[in-house]
Amino acid sequence: MAILPIIETPDPRLRVKSKPVEQVDDALRRFMDDMLETMYDAPGIGLAAIQVGEPIRVLVIDLQENDQKQPRYFVNPEIIWASEELSSYAEGCLSVPDVYGDVERPARIRVRYLDYNGEQREEELDDLLATCLQHEMDHLEGILFIDHLSKLKRDMLLRKLEKNRRQRGAA
Ligand code: ZN
Repeated sequence: MAILPIIETPDPRLRVKSKPVEQVDDALRRFMDDMLETMYDAPGIGLAAIQVGEPIRVLVIDLQENDQKQPRYFVNPEIIWASEELSSYAEGCLSVPDVYGDVERPARIRVRYLDYNGEQREEELDDLLATCLQHEMDHLEGILFIDHLSKLKRDMLLRKLEKNRRQRGAA
């Protein structure tokens, strides 16, 4: 397995719309293993393929609750139902590092996807898993969590991000 470089905003690749995967094969499984290792190393709880520069509809998630590794793989995910009820969560992103903003999204969703073995699955998700999946699915459309914030809040976070980068560069 390998740790892949994570691209950060304003890299234009983060704005690309990712393409569906045609086949879940060994090469894709190896790539998903690398994505997972990259996510654990970062560390983060979710990663979309485009964040390591691959414009394909693949994402990995592991909330690592109770210190247990529970990797989940979603290939070609589709939201087929979303609750009217919303929930708000202070989201962050490995491609928009070290800044956070509250985003409101449907509290529960039903998702259809292919798993690690290429089997089609359908599942209802709630809480952090629902939030995380919607955040990662946004990446497949070239959308970042900061796009959901007011311009004022977004500009504030981007200024903070630049300041952090300057400080890191100076250190
Ligand atoms: Zn993200």
